[in-house]
Amino acid sequence: MKVVGHFINGETCIPEGRLQDVFNPSTGQAEKQVLLASEFTVKDAITVAQSAFSAWRNTPVNKRAQVMFRFKALLEEHADTIIELIGQEHGKIAHDAAGELQRGIENVEYACGAPQLLKGEHSKNVGPGIDAWSEFQPLGVVAGITPFNFPAMVPLWMFPLAIACGNTFILKPSERAPSCAIYLASLLKQAGLPDGVFNVVNGDKVAVDTLLCDERINAVSFVGSTPVAEYIYATANQNGKRCQALGGAKNHAIVMPDADVDNAVNQLLGAAFGSSGERCMALSVVVAVGDKIADQLVDKLQTAMLDLKVGAFDNPENDFGPLISKAHQNKVEGHITHAGQQGAAIVVDGRGTSVADHEQGFYVGATLIDRVTPDMDSYKEEIFGPVLQVLRVESMQAAMALINAHEYGNGTCIFTRDGEAARYFSDHIEVGMVGINVPLPVPVAYHSFGGWKRSLFGDLHAYGPDGVRFYTKRKTITQRWPSSGVREGVSFSFPS
Ligand code: NAD
Repeated sequence: MKVVGHFINGETCIPEGRLQDVFNPSTGQAEKQVLLASEFTVKDAITVAQSAFSAWRNTPVNKRAQVMFRFKALLEEHADTIIELIGQEHGKIAHDAAGELQRGIENVEYACGAPQLLKGEHSKNVGPGIDAWSEFQPLGVVAGITPFNFPAMVPLWMFPLAIACGNTFILKPSERAPSCAIYLASLLKQAGLPDGVFNVVNGDKVAVDTLLCDERINAVSFVGSTPVAEYIYATANQNGKRCQALGGAKNHAIVMPDADVDNAVNQLLGAAFGSSGERCMALSVVVAVGDKIADQLVDKLQTAMLDLKVGAFDNPENDFGPLISKAHQNKVEGHITHAGQQGAAIVVDGRGTSVADHEQGFYVGATLIDRVTPDMDSYKEEIFGPVLQVLRVESMQAAMALINAHEYGNGTCIFTRDGEAARYFSDHIEVGMVGINVPLPVPVAYHSFGGWKRSLFGDLHAYGPDGVRFYTKRKTITQRWPSSGVREGVSFSFPS
């Protein structure tokens, strides 16, 4: 069976070590194995990245950007290979994987602007003959730890910008979808990146803990589930590292009585069931304002869901694919069962879905649950599957109160024709990314991505302008060149 190893110092390496099966979720079969890095291997990668730092930091920023321009071209040229790797290990259908890759490439495009992004700030004559400026210097070796659900895009949120800013990087991808990162590393080498600047170690908690505890790692970007994000943030902080840790979500859509119901239904279908709901921005809860619109929504959703196609990643006719693992399939089905036991109405039931010729695949069909209440476990927890739940309230204020009370605050959306209501909503809702008639308000690469509350630990959001700040430290220089013959006397008061 093929073994997926690491990429260290410009080459793939497969040392002896612990192995874990990598499944093709569409077939349910283990088709590869991934090496789980030892502490020794991770420390070796850190040593390599540290050695590469000095030369890379001193490489002119336009030269670093040129590597990113070539990398972008290679990503486009080899898109089909990346899409195939995502499909094999994640189960994402090609059209969806292509979208993921495109959003990742946009982050490379942003990193191509590094000369502009790192220009700094300058003030002349802040005092007599004194100039001051701030510049943004790289941190050194930084690490990224990423989840299974975006094997290309989430790593691309991190390393292109970090590298363009002059850092060297160690990526620890999800052990459930490990191949894509290795392939991205090989393209970056082809683009002309010097060896050692970008390294990939595959692995599990052993690798993560080594990165968190090694004093040579200066900053950690994490994306994954909230309990792990919280652990990463606390441990990185204890070890004196800068950290941004993005966690889980429960994204609500409010549907107002004046909304265009057919449009809302179309948008909700894609946002709830696309990628099997395994997106941190998936809309998994609809809050309908008033029973009239709730009844219309449930009725139309139920009818439209009959046409959804779930199946293997390599059939482009499918709308969405399998879940990541058998254990996750069981967990999602358990949530549906539990919601029913707690009194919700299961309107469309995706449990027990079987796909012809792929009976062992980890499939759950699109599921619609009505009359959900805030005390139900299926409402409180992130399900991360193709399950859309409907809550009914009497007013927009009640809908907003629900969202604001939830522990997560990643994304949200309001469907309405009322501009005043939409403006009030976006101003007062306690969520980091807000859509107005836009169901998946994932910020474009030149803004930054991040939730509020327990969806993000840290101050700076991912990529975009916050990414530049995260991967650099500010230095402010105040300069005077005394002219000959003019010398100041001694002063003991604070300069003013
Ligand atoms: P996960 O938390 O299980 O794993 C993420 C990473 O952490 C992986 O690299 C994994 O190897 C590592 N890890 C797992 N357990 C660990 C532990 N105990 N100690 C140290 N490291 C550990 O997440 P996942 O299942 O791969 O991804 C799905 C989750 O990610 C969902 O909760 C989803 O909402 C979230 N997510 C969030 C965003 C966002 O931007 N906020 C984006 C994508 C996914």
